[in-house]
Amino acid sequence: MKLVAASLTDTGRVRPNNEDSMGLYEPSSEKEQRSSGWLFLVADGMGGHKGGEIASSLAVKSIQSAFIADDGEDRGLVLVSAVEHANRLVLNESLADSALTGMGTTCTAMAIREATAYFAHVGDSRAYILREGEMIQITQDHSLVGEMVRSGILSDEDARVHPKRNVITRSLGIQKTVMLDTPFTPFELNVGDIFLLCSDGLTSMIDDPEIEKILGAAEPETVCRNLVDAANHNGGRDNVTVVVVKISEL
Ligand code: CA
Repeated sequence: MKLVAASLTDTGRVRPNNEDSMGLYEPSSEKEQRSSGWLFLVADGMGGHKGGEIASSLAVKSIQSAFIADDGEDRGLVLVSAVEHANRLVLNESLADSALTGMGTTCTAMAIREATAYFAHVGDSRAYILREGEMIQITQDHSLVGEMVRSGILSDEDARVHPKRNVITRSLGIQKTVMLDTPFTPFELNVGDIFLLCSDGLTSMIDDPEIEKILGAAEPETVCRNLVDAANHNGGRDNVTVVVVKISEL
């Protein structure tokens, strides 16, 4: 199979530093395509002075290395155990250093092998798919406003400007066990599918119809640039990170 992937992260227009991290692992051979497959990650760190940056980069690095090192046949299970391992690692780091107390991170991960995608997700970063011109959100936001939207007491529109929109209800690195969502896992791929993984610095700045329009209009590298530019154009109040994957051949 063939896919085209691109990614971009940006500090935005307001924040002094970038606490988002991303990962993009592409197999180096056809043999590796059939064994480990691809891995894509977005993590949005939080907590402390440096904690957020450390939590998200530690999570991405450790998930990636655990995923590649594990040759398990079920890539969905391998992905989940890599994320669970990262959870313990981030928690241990935060307990070992008082400057890092309370750090944590979101994590939205997608593994792809042999025409199938697998997801593992915690926090308010998101995964979307654009298929045959229609975009749907694959993940649910583990945030206060996300829960309010799901229970019908807040609209998507109002959630994006709600004063408590940054309150996360689940994340990685906070508790000994992490409650992960594995939506639509395993997920069968079609040629032409376009996936987007992103931090909330994108979705709090531009709405879904605009994301959908940008996502389908160009190749992944240009799409990444256009998404980040649109978020910054609307204020860039947060770090913004995007990973775009287009399935070109199965
Ligand atoms: Ca953020």
